[in-house]
Amino acid sequence: MAEITCPSGLTGRIRGMKVREERVLADRKLAKSGGQVDELLAACWEEMLDADPYSFADGKVNWGQVLQGDRFFALLQIRILTYGPEYVFAVHCQSASCRARIDWELDLTQLPVRSLTEASRAAVVAGNRFETTLPDAGKRVRFRLMTGEDERRLPQLQRAAPEKLLSSVLAYRVLDVDGVDARDKRRFIEDLTLRDADFLVDEFDRVDCGVDTTLEVECPECFLRQEVELPFDRGFFLPGTQRTARRRERSTSSPA
Ligand SMILES: [Zn+2]
Repeated sequence: MAEITCPSGLTGRIRGMKVREERVLADRKLAKSGGQVDELLAACWEEMLDADPYSFADGKVNWGQVLQGDRFFALLQIRILTYGPEYVFAVHCQSASCRARIDWELDLTQLPVRSLTEASRAAVVAGNRFETTLPDAGKRVRFRLMTGEDERRLPQLQRAAPEKLLSSVLAYRVLDVDGVDARDKRRFIEDLTLRDADFLVDEFDRVDCGVDTTLEVECPECFLRQEVELPFDRGFFLPGTQRTARRRERSTSSPA
């Protein structure tokens, strides 16, 4: 068991994963979203010590209401407690003329963690409402930080309209706009300049908390340094299966 404090201040005791969690982990498409993550968090979160900035009615964490940054931080700590901080993964080189396999090893405790600022904490307590002014439109907008429930809903919306990823994120996260009727919100967002949209996405990040999962890796073939997102798949929670795959790959690629 270990005591952890999430980026928002939410504090509790967690345990490592047990064999009984295998049903959750058996899902090959285990992603940052989805009910499996909630199940895993609920199973391994043993005791809540400090709910602040959340207010959970019965002393139990409602993971659907927890900020995305806290959820991922807690998952990361559960992973570290279970297997240790070493994470080995492979990605392919982004250079179209190379595409070599890049094997990378990472100490998960070294990922930068950003705490929720006092100002953001107050906005979360006051109902997860943040405010900013768009530079081009000159209007004040209110928006929200992503929670567990949003993690499930937003990808569904995006799958429904994959050609409108940006506008669905903005429409989903913007709560209201000064002087714009709720019915006209979507149209207002479609009419935003891309500079305003970019500004808004930056604002979402600026006031949020969480773990920075963007890494820089270097290709062993062409030496291109490139940014990748921390792979968060089955190998993250079952590193043994990756070990087996690596061993198999080595034995088939080596001359007999
Ligand atoms: Zn390369």
